[in-house]
Amino acid sequence: MNDNGCNCESTDCGSSCSSGSCGSKQTSFIEKTHELNSIKKVIGVVSGKGGVGKSLVTSTLAVMMRRKGYKVGILDADITGPSIPKMFGITKKAEGSEFGIYPQKTHNDINVMSVNLLLEKDDSPVIWRGPVIAGTVKQFWTDVIWGDIDYLFLDMPPGTGDVPLTVFQSIPLDGIVIVTSPQDLVSLIVKKAYNMAKAMNIPILGVVENMSYLKCPDCGTEIKLFGESKIDAIADNLGVKVLGKMPIDPAVAELSDKGEIEKLNNEYLAEAASFIEKSMNLKREENKSMKIAIATEGSNVSGHFGKCENFTIAEIENSIIKSKVVVNTQGNQHGLLPGFLASHNVNVVIAGGMGEGARQNLVSNGIEIISGVSGNIDEAIEAFLDGSLKSNDVGCSGHEHSHGQNNGESGCNCGHH
Ligand code: ADP
Repeated sequence: MNDNGCNCESTDCGSSCSSGSCGSKQTSFIEKTHELNSIKKVIGVVSGKGGVGKSLVTSTLAVMMRRKGYKVGILDADITGPSIPKMFGITKKAEGSEFGIYPQKTHNDINVMSVNLLLEKDDSPVIWRGPVIAGTVKQFWTDVIWGDIDYLFLDMPPGTGDVPLTVFQSIPLDGIVIVTSPQDLVSLIVKKAYNMAKAMNIPILGVVENMSYLKCPDCGTEIKLFGESKIDAIADNLGVKVLGKMPIDPAVAELSDKGEIEKLNNEYLAEAASFIEKSMNLKREENKSMKIAIATEGSNVSGHFGKCENFTIAEIENSIIKSKVVVNTQGNQHGLLPGFLASHNVNVVIAGGMGEGARQNLVSNGIEIISGVSGNIDEAIEAFLDGSLKSNDVGCSGHEHSHGQNNGESGCNCGHH
């Protein structure tokens, strides 16, 4: 330790060293993540105060990165105002084992950890003092088994106070995104966040201006509710990039209220996501696309594969439904069905009962089968996407019972006819 009370080895270390600005070695408070984790990049999303849309920006960026094929997690560090689980419609609580705590998964496989997944009731207030809050965030980093993650987004506590400071010091951030709204004393807030990140040597990826304008749903005019935006000039002044501007969009508010943020269909932050992707330069999974065909009877999975006249064919890319159409088999039933489905490049068939002949025929066409499924088609697709849809060929104890004339296409789910 030198005269300035720090571990700086530089001979010209000045008094500013305690802020790290001399770029020297300082005592590091960075905590190690759980030994089962491999987290490549950590991006913090910060704001000057609550309610400017920090969580919405975090969720939107996470959804976009997931759609690009990356493995994504969201650590909800906004302990006193946790809104991430609600935006994704997560209602299940986090589970733990002797090894650590497991995050919950969204429909499209984004890992989420939030204090709301630990509280018995979602509306219980978190009445904790700063050090306890900061300690909880640290635990989300050290004790949660995130597994293999390309991008972990941190929805930071608002402001530049004690808790965000501790988070900045204990979690190794690769960059931060600053979220502001036009009425939000922008200049001061951006500068504070900027200075805090600079002091910690954390790269600033840029600023997102939320609630920039309101687009009139009738005439399309952009109404600047808070006057002309000053964000470009402020960002320019500090040498940071404006990553994007998001309007007030009732459709977005509705999706986030309904827990369906993954159905997002706007491109407001597309450039921001691409910029982060370019700056971080990670390899992503190959685009995984496939087609699933569901034997269809009305809005339900048909119990009779061989007799089925309609199939819902859903195209899936990176665990996301790209398209969904109902096709008529046009008389190609029974033995002709597997060939018909193969001609549609189907990879997986979901159905109720299925005869052995059809089964073998599908397999020889390279088509995977999930049979014994019943109920609503959309729910079956969701279950398929989250990995919980399994063949359920029970309920046929032996073959004593008669299957009548239909050669096993009776709706019995045993699959051994
Ligand atoms: P913060 O994390 O900064 O506290 P949130 O992201 O939770 O703020 O946003 C607060 C509320 O405002 C949420 O209900 C959110 O859906 C809504 N909201 C935020 N930004 C927009 C927007 N651009 N358009 C419509 N609603 C928005």
